[in-house]
Amino acid sequence: MSAAATNPAGAGGAARGWETVVGLEVHVQLLTRTKMFCACSTAFGDPPNTNVCPVCLGLPGALPVPNERAVRLAARAAYGLGLAVHPRSIFARKNYFYPDLPKGYQISQHTEPLSTGGRLEIATPDRGNVTIGITRIHVEEDAAKSFHDRVPGMTAVDFNRSGVPLIEIVGEPDLRSPAEARAYLTALKQVLLYLEVSDCSMEEGSLRVDANVSVRPAGSAELRTRCEIKNLNSFANVERALGFERDRQIAEYQRGGTIEQRTMTFDAAKGEVRPVRSKEESHDYRYFPEPDLPPLVLEAAWLAEVRASLPELPAAKRERFQATYELSSNDAGVVTATAAIAAAFESFVTLSGASGGKEAWNWFANDLLSLSADGETIPLPLERAAEAVKLVKAGKIARQALRPLLARMVEAPSADAAALAQGLGFIQVSDTGEIDGWVREVIGAHPGEVTRCRRGEAKLFGFLVGQVMKRSKGRADPKLVNAALQAGLKAGG
Ligand code: ZN
Ligand code: MN
Repeated sequence: MSAAATNPAGAGGAARGWETVVGLEVHVQLLTRTKMFCACSTAFGDPPNTNVCPVCLGLPGALPVPNERAVRLAARAAYGLGLAVHPRSIFARKNYFYPDLPKGYQISQHTEPLSTGGRLEIATPDRGNVTIGITRIHVEEDAAKSFHDRVPGMTAVDFNRSGVPLIEIVGEPDLRSPAEARAYLTALKQVLLYLEVSDCSMEEGSLRVDANVSVRPAGSAELRTRCEIKNLNSFANVERALGFERDRQIAEYQRGGTIEQRTMTFDAAKGEVRPVRSKEESHDYRYFPEPDLPPLVLEAAWLAEVRASLPELPAAKRERFQATYELSSNDAGVVTATAAIAAAFESFVTLSGASGGKEAWNWFANDLLSLSADGETIPLPLERAAEAVKLVKAGKIARQALRPLLARMVEAPSADAAALAQGLGFIQVSDTGEIDGWVREVIGAHPGEVTRCRRGEAKLFGFLVGQVMKRSKGRADPKLVNAALQAGLKAGG
């Protein structure tokens, strides 16, 4: 069942006249080997409750020690997204009671976070390129993980995740549709992957999204009561859930009702959003500065070093690729999808000896990358792919034979490219005697077309070339066929 089918309002009916306002909070697990405040491993998938110690179990008297690498990755993410990283920030206790929180509080940051004031430009379906504000990025620790389906009638808790380092990326309510929310998440994930601060795996819980949504009459600037949706396990489901919740709120207002601030959960199987509890206000958490940790002080030289180590990010790379290789913005987007693909493309341009960026792009994206099982992993060492390209450039195989040859090379990684091409019958016939023979046959078989061609009907020359190629089963070198046919027509005329 599609979202549109169950949500007629979303298809433009009742939604017309209303504007959707979305702000996202994204929790991202940092790529560290150890936890935020202790030396326990962060490895995913270890047996439950094996990576634990007094600190991450919240035992009395255990003291937290911040993980420098986590702070470095957090600062890197902040710089990459254009935030100001503050030389001094404060850890705070966020107090609440839940079985996955053994201390009764989470160490987070509140009034003085690590970084504030960033932005991310995204391409939207309806509004072109739009800059989405990023309010803040702060550092915090993860809670443990509850399992409600492992032990009948009971909840099981795995503390391996307790204390794992996270950043929370708080976005401004600048998104105007469920599709924009998805575009933002896609762009954000790409930047975080380029920065190598997280593996951003939603399946493993290293990227989690909470979505705040409200609606208002179109043209109004007010911010109405919002609801927060949790339990969103894919970007597609973020988009779906926001569509359901937007339609629910519009319908409620149209009935003359009001929206109550709530936390909702999304049931992807049933395709519905339902309330789980009334939404907490920040004062419910009784934040106060963490007494076990001093302020987080970052020296100017350290911050400058983190900043200087940033890689070229997707937007800059796309622009450079457009300028350097003369690619369209779409084509540049394809070969900068990941930093690894972009690096492979740049090597390939050199190795292939392509005469221009567009030619290299065609070979790389259409012929090589299209053979990748996941669309990301280059299926063949670039040096080997370049061998096949050189056969095209030398006129030994037809341009159209490149992709099937590369496919064969993926299956036979150590075989010689020319030998494989020979075996597949791709090596072009450049024996002029053989080609002359086909030309004579074609001239004999199509007297009418030959006469008209000799009288100047130029388009028939193409027809006759096609006939010769057909007789050669596509293996004749088209340049030689042209020459031989011209000679043959002249000789008989
Ligand atoms: Zn621990
Ligand atoms: Mn948080």
